[in-house]
Amino acid sequence: MFTKECDKNIQRTIEIADSMIELARKGNDEREDSGCGVLYGMLLDDGFKLRKMAVMERDKHIEKENKRAMTTMNVPHLEGTGVSLSHFMKQPVIDISQCVLCDICVDVCPEIFIKNDSGYIEVAEDAAERLYDTHGNPINPRLLEDVLEAVKNCRGDCISWDETTKTKSV
Ligand code: SF4
Repeated sequence: MFTKECDKNIQRTIEIADSMIELARKGNDEREDSGCGVLYGMLLDDGFKLRKMAVMERDKHIEKENKRAMTTMNVPHLEGTGVSLSHFMKQPVIDISQCVLCDICVDVCPEIFIKNDSGYIEVAEDAAERLYDTHGNPINPRLLEDVLEAVKNCRGDCISWDETTKTKSV
């Protein structure tokens, strides 16, 4: 997928950050004392920060490439055809009965996961618009990546992808 050296380096950075996160979790699970807890807490924190920064940089490169490609591609235009985009527009849904209110999703992706006034987690009303353009194309790979990260780390295992909640005709 990545051909340029700079992109390969960014991808490698993401893999290193993933290893940091994995080691931090393993280290914490097998820790001997509170010192280990502090160490692996730092490692986890830095792993997430590093990953986020590398993903943002990678997405900027992808965006640049996409813009370049769009100038030479004939993008199908669906406006006015009445075609439903629901099958393109997956968005996260939360099974609130399983949510343990750990707030991880809000920490990882505050643009999409919101804590409401009652203290429960909900998906932002405009989540689909934040994730896709009117043609159903993802517009923010970083945001998608953050949602996937939230799904992966959800303590209640209660975030899933729903393809039908946001049906949109154009
Ligand atoms: S990560 Fe999962 S369990 Fe934790 S607050 Fe979000 S939805 Fe609830």
